Amino acid sequence: MLLGCIADDFTGATDLANNLVRSGMRTLQTIGVPAAPLDGEFDAVVVALKSRTIAANEAVAQSLAALEWLKRSGCRQFYFKYCSTFDSTPQGNIGPVAEALMDALDAKIAIACPAFPTNARTIYLGNLFVGEVPLSESGMRHHPLTPMTDANLVRVLQAQSRSKVGLVAWSAVAAGEAAIRARFAALAAEGVRLAVVDAITDADLHAIAAACAEHPLITAGSGVAIGLPQNFRSAGLLPQRADAAALPQVPGLAAVISGSCSQATNGQVAHWVESGRPAIRIDPFEIARGNDVAASALQQAASVLASGPVLFYATAAPEDVKSVQAKLGVAEAGAMVEEALARIARGLIERGVTRLVVAGGETAGAVVQALDIVALKIGPQIDPGVPWTATQGAHPILLALKSGNFGSRDFFAKSLAQLDA
Ligand code: ADP
Repeated sequence: MLLGCIADDFTGATDLANNLVRSGMRTLQTIGVPAAPLDGEFDAVVVALKSRTIAANEAVAQSLAALEWLKRSGCRQFYFKYCSTFDSTPQGNIGPVAEALMDALDAKIAIACPAFPTNARTIYLGNLFVGEVPLSESGMRHHPLTPMTDANLVRVLQAQSRSKVGLVAWSAVAAGEAAIRARFAALAAEGVRLAVVDAITDADLHAIAAACAEHPLITAGSGVAIGLPQNFRSAGLLPQRADAAALPQVPGLAAVISGSCSQATNGQVAHWVESGRPAIRIDPFEIARGNDVAASALQQAASVLASGPVLFYATAAPEDVKSVQAKLGVAEAGAMVEEALARIARGLIERGVTRLVVAGGETAGAVVQALDIVALKIGPQIDPGVPWTATQGAHPILLALKSGNFGSRDFFAKSLAQLDA
């Protein structure tokens, strides 16, 4: 075990794990801090927390518990993963968690670098850009929980940290690994413990990763991770692996569950229905009337499931969702639909489904919980940020968990076809 990662949310964890697998590391993602010791052979583990917007002291406690487990699992280097838009408030949680992890690891200096040029997140002179605009002019300024109204990450991080925050400017990053290391030394001499690092290209990320090879802790988005496997290879710790993304062959039936109402998912459901594949709609009003919608959907699917995958969807257009929410309440409607879809997932597994595509971040969370899943081995990528995964144990289930706006229009059929390719 080489790299132990702590991610502040579930889809962010998958994004990071996906990057690690693609650069040749066998990676496991756990849901929360596992109770049991690590089981299986992996080069990296990503512990997925839900700590982005909880109280800072609670985020610190959970992150330290994750660190302890990762240390016990034998990791050599640690990675704190947050969002590429640096989602946080003046109370945290990026600063407090980073400092607590540094203290626990006796780290002198750690970088802070959410840059991910592939997704148009770049940092110049400490200012984070989302596409062509500064963070503070992007949609993130209106985020309900973590509104980002300052693009200057040195200021943003300083406001939530006890330690001194400094900057490794692009002039040093572009000059390469040695210049970055020299800048770390200069900053440390000035008493800086957290260093925001500029990055505009993937080449910058590789240079930054190389310069951090001996850092006990890296704090970053998922971008910097693309350079870490090379560090381990250079140190002779990681062989070239052609099979980092390998998943077990799993025979069985297939299904799709969709509880996301985002634009991309609406298109994906429409594509499935238009291509004449079997689909069963879940009506929130039926659930509210007290009907056992999950049981009847499963019964309806029973005859067709054997001949091909079935889609179960609550996905609806924005105006329909609004009318449901107006009558049932936003949280109530969401919880009701999630509960029904999670019961459908459980019923499908009992009926022999072993390949399941789930659309929706919260929906995926509900399904994973209903199926008592504690960890997933990360497999091959389907679309950017969305890999196939497999549960551990004697009877694995293959899962593709897609949050809101990810995936091409033919995502559902394409992901299932990829398993037989
Ligand atoms: P996304 O990743 O697109 O945000 P989520 O699953 O995280 O998707 O969130 C979608 C939420 O909407 C879930 O809580 C789900 O239960 C709820 N939902 C799904 N279908 C409907 C519907 N027809 N009306 C109201 N709420 C719905």
